[in-house]
Amino acid sequence: MNGKLIIFSAPSGAGKTTIVRHILGQHRDKFEFSISASTRDPRGTEENGKDYYFISKEDFLHKIAKHEFIEFEEVYAGTFYGTLRSELERIWALGKHVIFDIDVIGGLRLKSKYPDDALAIFVNPPSLAVLKERLSGRGTDSEEKLGERFAKAELELSYADKFDVILNNFDLDTACQEAEKLVLDFLARKD
Ligand code: ADP
Ligand code: 5GP
Repeated sequence: MNGKLIIFSAPSGAGKTTIVRHILGQHRDKFEFSISASTRDPRGTEENGKDYYFISKEDFLHKIAKHEFIEFEEVYAGTFYGTLRSELERIWALGKHVIFDIDVIGGLRLKSKYPDDALAIFVNPPSLAVLKERLSGRGTDSEEKLGERFAKAELELSYADKFDVILNNFDLDTACQEAEKLVLDFLARKD
């Protein structure tokens, strides 16, 4: 099987994680979540090895030096996130396709590395104001963390046109259904 990459990108709070969880819940047999490495602390109920590989900055820098990342990004000042090569290999060895929840720069970088096998989807919130409401409403980030996320949001929204598809996340059920259709159509596509 030729494993595909399904990339969901957007500013923080747009709804990527919610939509990705929906797809994984419906199609466990087909898709596996790409667990990124991150130097941030776990949030809420997050678990190491499930939501992220939570590692120290020292360990992260060591992995960069050993070329273990397909892509990585200092998404927020001092906080690194990256996709490990071993993660893609792990998932493809299971005979599944990989789903990513990743920032806009990382998403476009992956798409450029796998132009034919990747579908890059931009999750579009109704407005900047609604994005902010969702992010604060999630209730998982401190004022400082919210501030750094808001500060990046406007610039990130301006990258939408560079993606293969823009998925509007206005009504959540509609967005989940559209997302499912997009990814299943992509898998069915003849190469
Ligand atoms: P991201 O992964 O992009 O940071 P999340 O999936 O964590 O975003 O969503 C941010 C918050 O917004 C969560 O509390 C989620 O339940 C909520 N949310 C997501 N999509 C919608 C929607 N269409 N309508 C209302 N709330 C939403
Ligand atoms: P959060 O801290 O809210 O989980 O994630 C912050 C941002 O980092 C989100 O936009 C998320 O998609 C992104 N992110 C998560 N994993 C990766 C990764 O492996 N690489 C890159 N470039 N961004 C990531």
